[in-house]
This record gives sequence, structure tokens and C-alpha cells, in this order.
Amino acid sequence: KTATGLTTFNPRWVRVNALKTTLGESLASPTFSAFQEVGGMSDMFFFDVVRKYYYPKAELLPNIFAIHPSHDITSSELYKSGKIILQSASSCLPAIMLDPPKGSTVVDGCAAPGNKTTHLAALVGSSGKVFAVERDKRRADILERMIMKAGAEGIVTTLKATDFTTITEGHPAWQASYLLLDPSCSGSGILQRIDWDISKLNLPSSDVSSGQPSRKKRKRDEASQKGSRSQPEEQVPQHVDDEEVQDSDTSKERLQSLSDFQVAIILHAFSFPNARRITYSTCSIHAEENEHVVARVLNNKIAKERGWGVQSREDNPLSTWHRRGLVGELSDLRVSSKEQQRVADGCIRVNRTDSLGGGFFVVCFIRQVDDEGQLG
Ligand code: SAM
Repeated sequence: KTATGLTTFNPRWVRVNALKTTLGESLASPTFSAFQEVGGMSDMFFFDVVRKYYYPKAELLPNIFAIHPSHDITSSELYKSGKIILQSASSCLPAIMLDPPKGSTVVDGCAAPGNKTTHLAALVGSSGKVFAVERDKRRADILERMIMKAGAEGIVTTLKATDFTTITEGHPAWQASYLLLDPSCSGSGILQRIDWDISKLNLPSSDVSSGQPSRKKRKRDEASQKGSRSQPEEQVPQHVDDEEVQDSDTSKERLQSLSDFQVAIILHAFSFPNARRITYSTCSIHAEENEHVVARVLNNKIAKERGWGVQSREDNPLSTWHRRGLVGELSDLRVSSKEQQRVADGCIRVNRTDSLGGGFFVVCFIRQVDDEGQLG
């Protein structure tokens, strides 16, 4: 509960698939036409229990909006046709930060299930190209289905059962200018899903028109109501607190081995000859997988030889996001303390309590170009 008596929630985030529709068209559809708009980024963190139809004017996050998590919109035409994609705001940050121009060629190095791949496809548009690399065959099948559903098959080439580190000279993806790297991580920032039951929120009936409880939920309710003599207890929406994380092995050894793997993925990307920008992201809250990885790759001679550094905060599209990298975790980075601060400010952190859909880390590496725009 906040000082104003409102309850904070983790909203359900929706990304409008620009390959199939627009934000305006989606919001005017029957699924969302009864929703009210809230004023700005900060307002969306507070959902009044009764007036629950909210979406933010997300200046920071184009084509992305939030609704109350009790809404199950998976049966809507918009969702089934791939016009909207349920993707947390934090997971949308890497493609926004990479900011590939229309018509550019991008590699998504660790792609399945493909949320970021299809986001990239929407950004580069039909004149662009995305190579989606996925090592795991089964996950690559899911990736392909997602690409089809999003209408991105003309833009994305899927490299199934392919290890990103095997892409070298001679492969068409080797010439890419932009790379998005979202490798496996501990997942320590992932929030547990709260099973919302809108039928128990005690809302005026006019407020529940477009939020349907899931079939599974309805069945469970029917069963519980049949068997119980008293009315079901009112379900109080819960605050998603900092401790609700997915079970994950975050032992020192596990984090070290993940960090070694993440470093290897980034260093391989540093060798792509035409690469200009690379984003690296995790849904981990552990510095071992975040700032420490940044320090390790920047200390590596490949970074120095090829002119890779971290994009300054003022140059990246997410400069207004308040939570930046932890400078105290960059003490191993062999540069001045001023430069350590600049690198930390270039990184973005999302805490599990930030309402963007879970803990997250993202950084954009940039390669120096000269006055003529030539790569160094
Ligand atoms: N970016 C995805 C999304 O937004 O939907 C999520 C990626 S998930 C965190 C990491 C993925 O990378 C897994 O599917 C894993 O199988 C894949 N992966 C791990 N190592 C890889 C490698 N060396 N080459 C290609 N894919 C890899």
C-alpha cells in the first residue's frame, strides 16, 4: 500500500506488434475500448482496485502499454492474430536500446522463444533483416511459431539448432551491423506469476465487462463454490514484493559459470566486422551476470583492439530511466573512477519492484566510428 492508499501491482504488459497493427487501432478495438488512460509513466504504478482499466502514456516505451494483471486477454482476436504480444516492459528494453534503423541487418544471438526477435523485426521493418540464432532445437521450433504468428517470417531468418559462437566469416549473418544478446542467465529477476481472479475482486459489475477469468479459474471457482457453505473470501490483490522470485540456482559456482558463458557470447559478438551496436541483457539481478560481465568484456583485449565501449547514457534512447548500473560493482574495470561512473550510467537496471515485469539488466556496447562514419 502506498501513502495514498492505492495498491501497487505488477501490471500485465502488452506490446503492440507494429508489423500487424498500430497502438491507436489496438486501443480502439473492443478488447480495450472501455479502458481509461492514465497520465504518464509514474502513474501506472498505482492501480486503484476498483477503477482498474488503465494504460500508461509510455513515452519511454513506444507501442507498449500496461493493463491490470487480472485481465486475461488471451482469448481476444487481437492476441490470437498476433497483433498484440504479451511481453513484459523490461523484456522490451533491449530492442529499444539497440534502436536498429529501418532496413538494417540485426542478429538476435540467443533468440528463443522470440519476444525480442519479433520486436526487432517490427523495428527494422520489411526492408530489414533479422537473423534469429537458437541453439536448442525444441526452443527453435517455438521461435519459428512465434515468428509466423507475428507475421515476421519475411524479415527473420531462423538459424535453428545453431550455436551463435559458430557464426563466423562466410556466414550471411556475419555482416550484421546490430546484435542483440540475451543469453541464458540465472533468471533471478523473474517474478512469480500471481494467479489473478477477477471474479473475487469485489468490483462493480460494469467494471468486469472485458476482464474474463480464465476457463481454468472459472472451473475451480465453480468447484469451490459447490463444495463450500460460506461465500468465498474476497481476494485482496497482492503486492508483488522483492522476494517473489523464480527458483533458481544462484550459487557462486553457478553464477561464475553463467558469467563465463555470457562473456564468451559478447566477446564473439565483438568480432563481427561491421557491428556498430550490441545490447547485452539478462533477467538477473546478480551483479556477477551484469556489471561484472561488462567489466570483464571491456577489460578484454578484443574490446580494446576493436574499439568497443559502453554507449553513454545521454546517447541512448532510455536515458530518462532512473535506475542505472551499480558503479560499486565495476571496481574491477581497469579505467578511471570517472569512466567507471560513465559506464555504470550507461547501464540500465530494473528492480523486481519497478513494475516493469521483473528484474532486468541491459547495456548497449558501441563501437567508435570516425568523422566519416567509418568503423575504427
Ligand atoms: N531473447 C529471448 C526472448 O526474448 O524471447 C530469450 C532468450 S533466453 C534468455 C536464452 C536462449 O539462448 C535460450 O533459448 C537458449 O537455448 C539460447 N542459447 C544459449 N546459448 C546459446 C548459443 N551459444 N547460441 C544460440 N543460442 C543459445
